[in-house]
Amino acid sequence: MKLSLVIPCYNEEGNVEKFFSEVNRVFNSKVSDYEFVFINDGSKDKTYQKLKQLYNNHHNESNIQVLTFSRNFGKEAAMYAGLSKAEGDLVCIIDADLQQRPEVVLEMLDVLNSDEELDCVAAYQQSRKESKTLSAFKSAFYKLINKISDVDFVNGASDFRLMKRVMVDAILQMSEFHRFSKGLFSYVGFNTKYIPYEVAQRESGESKWSFSKLFKYALEGIFAFSTAPLKLATFIGIFSSVCSILYLIVVVIQKLAFGIDVPGYATIVVLLLLIGGLLLFCLGIIGEYLSKMYVQVKNRPVYILKEHLKKDNQG
Ligand code: UDP
Ligand code: MG
Repeated sequence: MKLSLVIPCYNEEGNVEKFFSEVNRVFNSKVSDYEFVFINDGSKDKTYQKLKQLYNNHHNESNIQVLTFSRNFGKEAAMYAGLSKAEGDLVCIIDADLQQRPEVVLEMLDVLNSDEELDCVAAYQQSRKESKTLSAFKSAFYKLINKISDVDFVNGASDFRLMKRVMVDAILQMSEFHRFSKGLFSYVGFNTKYIPYEVAQRESGESKWSFSKLFKYALEGIFAFSTAPLKLATFIGIFSSVCSILYLIVVVIQKLAFGIDVPGYATIVVLLLLIGGLLLFCLGIIGEYLSKMYVQVKNRPVYILKEHLKKDNQG
């Protein structure tokens, strides 16, 4: 069975060669038929040159494909492109920075081969090598999204996973523009086994994930896999209506029974601001969904290929 490695690369000039040689060293005599599908996701450093060199030097003895995007489209788009060009019966998504060791891929292969029923083996980080705040934030995100979405999200599971062809084809059928792989993997179903793995140190360069990027990504996940925020508007509306009716009754009784004129200026200003704020908040939520629909309806491609290097398919 042929194994395809899908490797998204964005500014990974210091890693791609090392990645290539490490995989060859680890796979040597253990995996016989495998291909590399590198996706150069609009890198601004020398990743393209390094990949081209790798291709030119090795494409006769190794199976290498190099996809180059016309600009940076993001890891989600890179994975989608890689999955659609991968030719293996098994496909593994793996980072270029060697944080996800090729040894773990062998482990995944063993697990997958040991049980015919399995369609996918995914790795999850047992212990996170990151700050407590970030860890807490991520756990809170998983709790929230699992509550408000029908799809199961596993805390710590990354995109690092080995899949059978049936599952890859199912994922490719979902050609949506706003991709959130963690959700797509669960959405398509199939028997998945999670195995723990240790994240290694990054070989070279730095992570592209900042806190604000992660936050945006988390929101993306919520908007892509749940419509619960839309219902929030309904609940806020019902709640504030009930409150205002109760308050109205109180005011009428005060006036009629006790003759108290309720001094209202401050209350009115505060309430106006509160209701205005809530209305805008709910409009904003609707806007989020609407903007995503707007982009989706335009039906633009998820990525644009500038070059596809592959044996018998130059250019
Ligand atoms: N990546 C990509 N496009 C992007 C950002 C990242 O293809 O816009 C790739 C990157 O080259 C790496 C993988 O996605 O192979 C994971 O990125 P990174 O190592 O920055 O994330 P982390 O490991 O810190 O979660
Ligand atoms: Mg990394």
